[in-house]
Amino acid sequence: MENLAQYADWAYLIGAILFVLALRGLSSPASAIMGNRYGMIGMALAVAATFVVVGSLNGGAIVLKPAYVLILGAMVLGAGLGIYRARTVPMTQMPETVAMMHSLVGLSAVLIAVAAVLNTSSHHDAVHRFELFVGCFVGAITFTASVFAYGKLAAKKWAKSMKGGWIKPVQVVLALGMLGFGAGYFFTEGMNYFYAMTACALVLGYFWIGPIGGGDMPVVVSLLNSFSGWAAAGIGFTLNNSMLIIAGSLVGSSGAILSYVMCRAMNRSLFNVLFGSFGAAAAGPAAGDGKEKNYKTGSADDAAFMMGNADSVVIVPGYGMAQARAQNAVKELGDLLKEKGVKVSYAIHPVAGRMPGHMNVLLAEADVAYDDVKEMDEINSDFASTDVVLIIGANDVVNPAAKNDPSSPIYGMPILEAQRARSIMVIKRSMSTGYAGLDNDIFYMDKTMMIFGDAKKVAEDILKSLSGSGH
Ligand code: NDP
Repeated sequence: MENLAQYADWAYLIGAILFVLALRGLSSPASAIMGNRYGMIGMALAVAATFVVVGSLNGGAIVLKPAYVLILGAMVLGAGLGIYRARTVPMTQMPETVAMMHSLVGLSAVLIAVAAVLNTSSHHDAVHRFELFVGCFVGAITFTASVFAYGKLAAKKWAKSMKGGWIKPVQVVLALGMLGFGAGYFFTEGMNYFYAMTACALVLGYFWIGPIGGGDMPVVVSLLNSFSGWAAAGIGFTLNNSMLIIAGSLVGSSGAILSYVMCRAMNRSLFNVLFGSFGAAAAGPAAGDGKEKNYKTGSADDAAFMMGNADSVVIVPGYGMAQARAQNAVKELGDLLKEKGVKVSYAIHPVAGRMPGHMNVLLAEADVAYDDVKEMDEINSDFASTDVVLIIGANDVVNPAAKNDPSSPIYGMPILEAQRARSIMVIKRSMSTGYAGLDNDIFYMDKTMMIFGDAKKVAEDILKSLSGSGH
């Protein structure tokens, strides 16, 4: 047994390679399941190797230590809660669940850093103190910002967007306080400096995300994903564990790349997302010009008739499809239309839904063929020659104000250009706004028909009508 410990580094190396393969697999829906398996094997290997490392910390033979009991206890508790949550969470609550998980990584980074600072048996040299300081404040900001993101995504009352000129100065004071106390700890090793630095970082995380508006939330969610990775890498430095450093850096850098991709999708710079408050005019009643506007309504039968007689249909899913769990009905509808000789595609906006890749996940779950799913850049030039666009529970991602109205808070965000199609059908329950709280001119166009109702129910009704009609 005692020789096992020397193989731990090899196990970590193989685990790291498996994590890289996992990320590679996850880059395409076709290889995603295999990617997940690589990740699971890599993680199992890393956990097993860590047991061996813990057992031989004093050098020499592996002995059963009290630490095992603590680790096993924590693992059983964590795994139990995780399994329960994974089995019970509805798909519609996945975005806030992901935010909550990011917060836990941040919290562990803080707790481990505090434990390491309190551990008087080991001397902390300058490099170590720097790691502890940075790892702790990244973890603390990740923790409170993710808790707030959870609240915003779950539409909790306590997580309303903050507004006002006072926020920026407060942020600056907190950031300076955090760095100042951090420097105090670095030079004097004073514990009180460390606690004060952690407190400033915790409050800063809260005030950083508070004013960020609806428009920027997708980028913030992927940034927090990245932060949680860097926080884990920080823990790796603190614990001198190469596996955690590698895994954390992989999560941190892939999250950073995702943030960059999301920024491009929103036409925003990362700097503006971090330090501006774009889209903060969010959440509220429709920001219209006060005049009554007219819109046309229709029924599921009307929609079935129009789509059954079209040559091409593009389906644009949005958050409402996720909310109604309508993806299977939508897939059946697409399949039936294809059987009738209609060309069907699904258009995905990068920020549709409430988490990166939300629509891709749902359509994959419903077994929609990958070739029929088109990204925004790929499909936008097709809309002008499309007979019918079926917008199902989407709103902000097809709002032409992002293109035409410089005063709109989402001006500049690229959209799915559904307004260019020959006819438009929108399934939603009412004329309410979407996440950004903005009215949408596409609903009032002459060629648009609103079909009010729950997305799943309406999709099933269209399906029924279409299968009975023999269009
Ligand atoms: P939106 O939030 O703009 O609109 C969704 C629409 O779905 C609503 O207008 C709502 O209208 C309708 N809806 C809700 N429930 C149902 C239902 N059961 N049946 C039918 N319709 C329903 O969604 P989009 O996907 O167009 O845009 C995503 C928005 O979320 C963007 O603003 C994006 O910035 C933001 N966001 C995205 C994140 C991401 O990572 N993807 C993260 C955080 C925010 P009604 O109530 O009338 O039914």
